[in-house]
Amino acid sequence: MPSTASPPPPVPGPIPCPDAHTRPFWQAAARGVLSLPRCGCDPQLLYPPPPRCPRCLDETFEWVELSGRGRLWSWTEIAVPWFPGAPVPSVVAQVAPDEQAGLLLLAADPLGRVRSMAPGAPVRIVFRPVSDTAGIAEIAADDALAAGAPVAAESGSRASTVPQTAP
Ligand SMILES: [Zn+2]
Repeated sequence: MPSTASPPPPVPGPIPCPDAHTRPFWQAAARGVLSLPRCGCDPQLLYPPPPRCPRCLDETFEWVELSGRGRLWSWTEIAVPWFPGAPVPSVVAQVAPDEQAGLLLLAADPLGRVRSMAPGAPVRIVFRPVSDTAGIAEIAADDALAAGAPVAAESGSRASTVPQTAP
């Protein structure tokens, strides 16, 4: 059944400012894609994108595009505006992505949809572009996913190698 919820209001606050080591993350986000780095020394994805590998200190990463699908881990409601004019209360969720156990990603929930969900509920992270160089992670406004309906099969995650050197 299609969603009858209104689209969330535009983000009236700060826009992320990519730096050398987060630029690939934000560029993918601006295209609506969740992409995370991993080093050649370890198959684990890294979040947030670090300037260098915490294990071997290499600064070159492979960037992997993820599905955005995962399970709700937790959420919190923020009652105090974190910038002037920020809507309150606002909800931020932690999502465990399907591609890697033990990793937790943050996503805004402008509609407060996770308030009615149990931990482990299927959710999807999407990125709402807020500039040419960044997007904000949000819980998808997709009622079928939130209700646990099957998700159409997609090809697996895609990877690309982007030489990444910190300044
Ligand atoms: Zn490494």
